[in-house]
Amino acid sequence: MAILPGFVNAHSHAFQRGMRGQGETFREGQGSFFTWRASMYELVASLDAERAYRTSRTAFEEMLDAGITTVGEFHYIHHAADEEENARWMLDGAILRAARDAGIRIVLLHCDYVRGGFDDRPLAGGQVRFNTRTLETYLASLDRAEKIAEGPLQSVAAVSHSTRAVPIDRIAAVHAEATRRGSVFHLHLEEVVQEIDDCLAIHDRTPMRLLLEHGVIDERTTAVHCTHSNAEDLQDFAAAGARICLCPNTEGNLGDGICDLATMRELGIPIAIGTDLNSRIAPTEDLRWIEYVQRVRHQMRGAVVDQAGRTGRALLDIATVNGAASLGVESGSISVGRFADFVAIDLDHRTLEGVDPDQLAEAIVMGTGPECLAGTCVGGTWVRGGPDAARGGA
Ligand SMILES: [Zn+2]
Repeated sequence: MAILPGFVNAHSHAFQRGMRGQGETFREGQGSFFTWRASMYELVASLDAERAYRTSRTAFEEMLDAGITTVGEFHYIHHAADEEENARWMLDGAILRAARDAGIRIVLLHCDYVRGGFDDRPLAGGQVRFNTRTLETYLASLDRAEKIAEGPLQSVAAVSHSTRAVPIDRIAAVHAEATRRGSVFHLHLEEVVQEIDDCLAIHDRTPMRLLLEHGVIDERTTAVHCTHSNAEDLQDFAAAGARICLCPNTEGNLGDGICDLATMRELGIPIAIGTDLNSRIAPTEDLRWIEYVQRVRHQMRGAVVDQAGRTGRALLDIATVNGAASLGVESGSISVGRFADFVAIDLDHRTLEGVDPDQLAEAIVMGTGPECLAGTCVGGTWVRGGPDAARGGA
């Protein structure tokens, strides 16, 4: 076996695992991000706490199967049903229970969400289940989530959904709260062109520029996607020390577009990955996608390389060290003082047969998926396989 640091999934919506295979039929012509979002809201409308628990647990179990030891669960579906007072915030507990029962480390990115658009339109349909209402209500729910989070495997961070779903002053207030609590801060940013156009129409600046001007972008900030972020904004984003989380399978599935990775890399912006809508859970596949879409787009090879020009380690860092830093978790590398979160690779697996040991990292990233894993260890406990299993033991 070879042991690697466990993979870190910096951006997931576990409940969306319930949509796998759905929304892939396009009878009425072309689909888009927005036709997908309409089906997602339909799923949301049918979700109660029990179903949210089961779907999330399935997603977390599948993550462990795929060598993911930490998930950043970007959680915004808080209420089971808007009309019932006792159903409020029920889903927060359901997600944490699902993670605990699966045995995965979780950072609950507890999400503020209050409006339907930049024009302050109210939440409608399935969206009402996301409503965090006043800032005080949101902060109280954050305290409550922190109280029910259990032990070293669970923590909670204050995050905002997006510049579309939260007014800028309130994003700044939540970011200040994250700073006060010493937690990380995440938000969706510039995934689709429409979001940028709508923001320009109201604020006369891009969402990233708006955040930069309000001091929301700093070392604790991870912006998710940045598919359409421009180079000038990225320059100031990089100078502020912020990070980006790419979700290659999701961005491909939704047809979001291809990010300006060359500029991100040149500016030294740390990149993490997320499984986002969980249509597929396979970290090495996401890593390949990061590299391959750039190869296809620019007719070149070697978009993500280290100083020696090698892809393997540079891409693996994205799924390990960078993910852990993005979530503020002491994992992502095998070293003293870090959590014992590992993934074991079966070197006898057929996908690795004939591989030069010196090129093992490249072979793992380019040529394997979860099928070659021999175990997943979270906080010192092998929750899948591991050395004992390999010896024929427990
Ligand atoms: Zn997302």
